[in-house]
Amino acid sequence: MIIAIDGPAATGKSTTAKSVAQQLGFLYLDTGAMYRCVTLAVLNEGVDIKNSDQLNDLLSEIDIDIKMEDGSYEIFLNNIDVSVEIRTPDVTRKVSAVSAVKDVRLSMVRNQRKIASKTDCVMEGRDIGTVVFPNAEFKFFLIADSYVRAERRLKDLRAIGEEKSIEELEEDIKRRDEYDSSREISPLKKAEDAIVIDTTYLSIDEQVSRIIEIINIKQ
Ligand code: C5P
Repeated sequence: MIIAIDGPAATGKSTTAKSVAQQLGFLYLDTGAMYRCVTLAVLNEGVDIKNSDQLNDLLSEIDIDIKMEDGSYEIFLNNIDVSVEIRTPDVTRKVSAVSAVKDVRLSMVRNQRKIASKTDCVMEGRDIGTVVFPNAEFKFFLIADSYVRAERRLKDLRAIGEEKSIEELEEDIKRRDEYDSSREISPLKKAEDAIVIDTTYLSIDEQVSRIIEIINIKQ
């Protein structure tokens, strides 16, 4: 079974999806982390994303591995734990441009389908219900007010020792959503049959129980 959770930045997708997966005993896959890994590799290697030879060489060399142990979720790029590095402002600034490139998407979507072919999965991202798994059994689309989202992102950033103003963060979030929604390939968009959950006034526990309730009722 596939449960797709899509939506704009900082709507609580990751925390919610992780907890839903834990409660159901499903695998959790954060596809944003995969695009962030490619972006980190692009930055580290100084790859020009407009040069398709360079980019495809990089894509064929990178190995993204996700390990979940005792509730902790770690992302490895070529055997190095990059869980913190992929959340830095440098990566966040560049990730939408990297994610908009066709070859990057083809490669990531192939991986995502392969991972989910082996097991039940809660997959979180921007295009899971529309492109990666249009036949997913359950599709949710999370939304929230942009100021509240900026507040949430500020907390995340502080946890990794970074600081930004709330206004700057709100602008960053809006800019990234606009870029992700207007790209040609697999734009951020609600699937027609997705259930919308507005998380502005919800706690993580409330978001999770709402999703679990819907799954239980419809199953
Ligand atoms: O979810 P997160 O904010 O970590 O995602 C980072 C970026 O990765 C998004 O802004 C988007 O550009 C890209 N992304 C995507 N497709 C997905 C997941 C993320 O294009 N399925």
